[in-house]
Amino acid sequence: MTPKTQCSRCVMDSSDPAITFDEFGVCSHCHYFDNSAHNYWFPNQEGKRKLDGIINSIKEKNAKKPYDCIMGISGGVDSSYLALVLKEYGLRVLAVHVDAGWNSEMAVSNIENVINHCNFDLHTHVVNWNDMKKLQLAYLKSGLANQDVPQDHVFFAVLHKFAVKTKNNVFMSGGNVATEYILPQSWQGSAMDRINLKAVYKKFGGEPLEDYETIGLWDLYVLFRLRGMKEVRPLNYMPYTVNEAIAELEKVGWRNYGRKHGESFFTKFFQNYILPERYGYDKRIAHLSSRILSGEITRSYALEVLNEPLYDPQELEVDKKYFCKKLGISLSDLDGYIKAPLRFYDEFPNWDLQRNSLRFISAQWAKFKSKK
Ligand SMILES: [Zn+2]
Repeated sequence: MTPKTQCSRCVMDSSDPAITFDEFGVCSHCHYFDNSAHNYWFPNQEGKRKLDGIINSIKEKNAKKPYDCIMGISGGVDSSYLALVLKEYGLRVLAVHVDAGWNSEMAVSNIENVINHCNFDLHTHVVNWNDMKKLQLAYLKSGLANQDVPQDHVFFAVLHKFAVKTKNNVFMSGGNVATEYILPQSWQGSAMDRINLKAVYKKFGGEPLEDYETIGLWDLYVLFRLRGMKEVRPLNYMPYTVNEAIAELEKVGWRNYGRKHGESFFTKFFQNYILPERYGYDKRIAHLSSRILSGEITRSYALEVLNEPLYDPQELEVDKKYFCKKLGISLSDLDGYIKAPLRFYDEFPNWDLQRNSLRFISAQWAKFKSKK
C-alpha cells in the first residue's frame, strides 16, 4: 500500500483520489476553502445583519401562516443547535423528524429535550422498516461508497413533501461551512439522485418497495422555484463552532454522542467501520479539516483526534452483531460484502445529464425573476 500524502495545513490526504498539492504541500481543499468559503460564510457583524434581515422578511411574509418555516431535526449537533438559534429569533417552527429505524436512544431523548425547550411543533415520520432494510441491503451488496443514500434520500424527500403539504416555503437547514465545507466529491455520489437509487435497487434489491418516499429532479429543481421555496442556512451567518454549540445544547439537556453522527447507529457504524475498512475513507479527516480551516481547532489537535482508534474493538464486535441481526444477515455475509468489488456512482444510470440541463434552466429562471 502506498503511504498517504497529507496536506501540510489541514489533515486531508491522498485517500481522496482527486486531491492535489501545491509546492508547499497545501492541498486543493485548502485552496478551495480560501477561494470560496467567504461567499457563503459570514462569521461577523455583517453575517448578523444579513441573518436579521432574512429572518425579519420571513416573519413578515409568513405572518398569516401557522408557521414561519420548517426544519428537519436528526438530534445531531447541527440541527439541534439550529433549533436553539431559531428559538432565539422567535420563529414559529415546524420541526420534522424522519425515523429510519436506526435512531440511538440518546438521539430520541435529545430531540425531545431540544423540541420541548424550543416549544416547537414536531412531526415524526417513521419510514417503513421493510423498505429501509431492503434498500440498505441492496446498497451494501452494490459496492458503492455512499451507504448513507437510503437514509439521506428519504430524510429530504419526506421533509420536502411535508413542506409542500403544509404550505411551508422556507426550509431552515443546519448545513454549514464551518464544520462540513470539506467533503471529497470522489467519495460519494449525490444522495438526492433518484435515478441512481432506483438503478441500484433494481440490480441488487428484491421485491418492489412498498412506500419508500423519493424525490426527483422536477421537484428539486423546477417546482422548488415555481412554488417560491427557499433554503436558509442560519449557521453560515455566525461564528459557528462544534464545541460552543455542544456547550449551549448541554444547557437544555442534550447529551453529547462523542462522535459525529452518533445519532444514527447506521451512520456511526458505516462511517467508523465500513467506510474506512472497505474504502479506506476516514470521514473524520474531512470534518476535522473543515474545523481547522474555519479556525475552530488546530492541526495538531486534529492529529491527536486521528490517533484515537475509530472503534473500540469490543464495541465493534457488539455493534457488528447488532447491525447484522437488524438487517437479517450473518457475520460472514457482512464480511463477504465488505470484500466484494468496489463500484462507483457513475457505473449506474444517474441524473448527471438531466441535472445539468435543469440547473441551467433554473439559473436562467432565477435571473429572469430577479429582473422583474
Ligand atoms: Zn489542506
